[in-house]
Amino acid sequence: MNNFEFKNPTKIIFGKDTIEKVKEEIPQDAKVLLLYGGGSIKKNGIYDQVKTALTGVDVTEFGGIPANPEYATLMDALKVIKDQNITYLLAVGGGSVIDGTKFLSAAAVYEGDTPWDILTKHIRTKKGMPFGTVLTLPATGSEMNSGAVITRAETKEKLAMGGPGLFPEFSILDPEVITSIPQRQLANGLTDAFTHVLEQYMTYPIGALLQDRFAESILQTLIEVAPKVLKDPTDYNAAANFMWSCTMALNGLIQKGVPTDWAVHAMGHELTALFGIDHARTLAVIAPSHYKFNFEAKKEKLAQYAERVWNITEGSIDDKAYAAIEKTVDFFHELGIDTKLSDYTKDYEGTAEEIAKRFTNRGWLGLGEHQSLSPDKVEKIVKMAY
Ligand code: NAP
Ligand code: FE
Repeated sequence: MNNFEFKNPTKIIFGKDTIEKVKEEIPQDAKVLLLYGGGSIKKNGIYDQVKTALTGVDVTEFGGIPANPEYATLMDALKVIKDQNITYLLAVGGGSVIDGTKFLSAAAVYEGDTPWDILTKHIRTKKGMPFGTVLTLPATGSEMNSGAVITRAETKEKLAMGGPGLFPEFSILDPEVITSIPQRQLANGLTDAFTHVLEQYMTYPIGALLQDRFAESILQTLIEVAPKVLKDPTDYNAAANFMWSCTMALNGLIQKGVPTDWAVHAMGHELTALFGIDHARTLAVIAPSHYKFNFEAKKEKLAQYAERVWNITEGSIDDKAYAAIEKTVDFFHELGIDTKLSDYTKDYEGTAEEIAKRFTNRGWLGLGEHQSLSPDKVEKIVKMAY
């Protein structure tokens, strides 16, 4: 097991009717900017719940943060923060609104030339503007971690950022919010969380036994609740287990003591940047090819995953490892998620070369848990995913 440090300062407030507690978490004298997305919170009643809870608090609003939070929109929000002397941010939304809020938390205190530096120069924020979240979509884990991914349409880029000062101070997780989520986004959430676990688990060498079992239990729980959540989003217990699994999948715990991969996300982000494909779907496109391409290195772990998560006990290590990849693809298909790039775009020729070129230009010469995935290998994996 590798050495590690672990600190996660986010307070989680979980359960039914918890949105009304939001006021208790925000300093009384704060000038709050309430950030939200395209307006789903106005249709499903979450906006009203938050506004009622915040009666008496000085609140300004900024809506319209799009899925895959867009830099240009966020720069408009940054202007509001500066013009109105905002002191506290409140994200009400899914990963896109929360990630956008993290960018703003960092940008509000950044003193360099342009906030785009935070993304391109890998500026780690030690202390951002304080913020909390009301999560409306279980998926990303952004509600309890310090990372964010920001898109810039102008340059077709999607880049990650983070830092120890970008954990939410609190996150409110009321599983009842999922009743209004469309099937497509529920499937995305299940797929994103599932892949988050795989990125931290499907690595070698094997050594952190407890982390492995944490990871396997999250995968098993997601597999168990997925059909229930899709069939009946008002099934509270299924919703609650889905929501908590998504948070636990990416709050830092399961990545401690283990090597982590994240190459699937790196390649997937490019597919969103180039084609606008939903984040989770890009992961379902890349992951099977990634595991097939890196089969020799990862097959022991794939076989462990086969046995413990999919109950595949027959056959050699190779047989089990291969069957586990197939099971994963079947799982994505059962969620209604396509797993080939050509299912999403006819314009895929040249994509692999373009992504390899981008990685080379950025100096991303070795991805994966052992920094061994060079751009030529990335090109092969993306081609396998056509
Ligand atoms: P999202 O982009 O935040 O939201 C997707 C859609 O779902 C939006 O149209 C949103 O509508 C709608 N929605 C949200 N809550 C809803 C509700 N309760 N009822 C009805 N509709 C609802 O989706 P996401 O999957 O959570 O976030 C994806 C983003 O997070 C990507 O940019 C991805 O790269 C990033 N990400 C971040 C991390 C991290 O650790 N920080 C990890 C993985 C992915 P409105 O816009 O109208 O609200
Ligand atoms: Fe993700």
